[in-house]
Amino acid sequence: EEGGCAARRPRVTVDSSKAKTSLEALKISLRQLRWREFPFGRRLPCDIYWHGVSFHDNDIFSGQVNKFPGMTEMVRKITLSRAVRTMQDLFPLEYNFYPRSWILPEEFPLFVAEVRVMKDSDPSWKPTFIVKPDGGCQGDGIYLIKDPSDIRLTGSIQSRPAVVQEYICKPLLVDKLKFDIRLYVLLKSLEPLEIYIAKDGLSRFCTEPYQEPTLKNLHQVFMHLTNYSLNIHSGNFIHSDSVNTGSKRTFSSILCRLSSRGADVKKLWSDIISLVIKTIIALTPELKVYYQSDIPAGKPGPTCFQILGFDILLMKNLKPMLLEVNANPSMRIEHEQELSPGVFENVPSPVDEEVKVAVIRDTLRLVDPQKKKRKNTQQHIESGKNKVNVRYDSFTCCRYPTLERVSEANEELPDAGPADRPDHDTTRSPEASLPSLCLKQVFPKYAKQFNYLRLVDRVAALFIRFLGVKGTTKLGPTGFRTFIRNCKLSNSNFSMASVDILYIDITRRWNSMGIDHKESGMCLQAFVEAFFCLAQKKYKSLPLHEQVAMLIDFCEYHLAALDEKRPVCGRG
Ligand code: ADP
Repeated sequence: EEGGCAARRPRVTVDSSKAKTSLEALKISLRQLRWREFPFGRRLPCDIYWHGVSFHDNDIFSGQVNKFPGMTEMVRKITLSRAVRTMQDLFPLEYNFYPRSWILPEEFPLFVAEVRVMKDSDPSWKPTFIVKPDGGCQGDGIYLIKDPSDIRLTGSIQSRPAVVQEYICKPLLVDKLKFDIRLYVLLKSLEPLEIYIAKDGLSRFCTEPYQEPTLKNLHQVFMHLTNYSLNIHSGNFIHSDSVNTGSKRTFSSILCRLSSRGADVKKLWSDIISLVIKTIIALTPELKVYYQSDIPAGKPGPTCFQILGFDILLMKNLKPMLLEVNANPSMRIEHEQELSPGVFENVPSPVDEEVKVAVIRDTLRLVDPQKKKRKNTQQHIESGKNKVNVRYDSFTCCRYPTLERVSEANEELPDAGPADRPDHDTTRSPEASLPSLCLKQVFPKYAKQFNYLRLVDRVAALFIRFLGVKGTTKLGPTGFRTFIRNCKLSNSNFSMASVDILYIDITRRWNSMGIDHKESGMCLQAFVEAFFCLAQKKYKSLPLHEQVAMLIDFCEYHLAALDEKRPVCGRG
């Protein structure tokens, strides 16, 4: 019966007109899946819209888009640092995978003061810092300093804010070179939270042997910065067709090497999984605010998923450290080669193709709308056959499906030109000949271990409830007052006048930081700060995360009681 259904299944439709530089990898993936591509868009709705840059498109009312609204803003250097810092305030030990960071220019005095205190308490501490302009990418504008006074405060910092961060001086080296890891992470759904990690990623190498930073070598970008876009211009860059040599290799090839040296690769993977889940937990509260603003509940709109690029640096002791998250990780599978001086040609890059095509193809397999439909309608019939699709190999270093395996498997497939095929697939499902999924579910799989960290998510739920008018991201003074009143937070010690002062103080400060001037009112981060203040006031002397958890319980309890009294009432 399943075979019969599969034979008549209409093909999944994908609008690739905005795919930009991910187009080549997307095309290969769609051919492997035998899905139908619309390279110039389509008048009728498509099942999936593949965007190269961001979510924004006001004409999509159904299907799925491969970007979340607000993700680009969320992963900018300053916003990410702020979101992680909020989590560090609550759970300092759990979030020690992100280097200590300060936001410039506003935290410059704090940076100077904290560094002075740390140096006084440990005179042997000889730190290096890295300054990164907000919104920059590909190493653009980044420089290293030894002392806070070396920050170029004039001009550019005022007009272009930045993050200054403790520089990790002792990275793990391979072949005497510093390298970082680009890992692909699929955020499949925000509510409920679903996260997948690709079993393989890329390792990007520096092109000058590494030395710990000194005043003499601070400026040597080919030694300290692993960006591909920088190192490609070094005379030492090695393009290689092999996955385990050259300046760009697969992460699995590094793991093989580490494993042969006796490193605990399983522990490393579990640390990386934990880093990824915790980082996404830091990002979800604000993402939910953006989501409800762009796709209000009850209105027709698409659902979203997104592939994120996590940049991770391994320290000498194998501890993974988060450098940054990319909302638009490069999905290019070719690189430019200078054939003769000034003459460039795009040539295929097998390492990129092997990793990136698998990530895109398997993301599509996971969000396959037909699989979802079939799952809903035929759950009871399907128990046997579909298991093939959801069986994961564990993360291991050497078992990644090779390009050969994928193409071998697909030699059986007829050529799948998009336009000349009928809309009904009459042959065997291509799933059968594809390798097992390269994306492994980590959430909700490990939810039990991490759910206690999701406090700010619950604060964001309160915030969203009181936002009132759909489409906004900021809370007005009336909304804040209603929150205080409905949650019964005002009393003789905390009058409504004090509530107004708290609102004005915090909101004014956040708005003066110049993050978002489009709307007036209190942004989520400001609300979180106000919430922490209220929690500290109410539950003195407990650790902050306990104070906050108790205040959330208190608010949720009163709101639930209110909802019981008012059965049909607004958003709540
Ligand atoms: P960009 O978005 O411009 O690539 P990144 O934050 O990724 O900015 O930094 C660029 C490079 O600088 C990284 O790939 C890494 O090699 C190096 N780097 C960044 N932050 C640190 C740090 N805290 N310690 C050591 N190296 C770092």
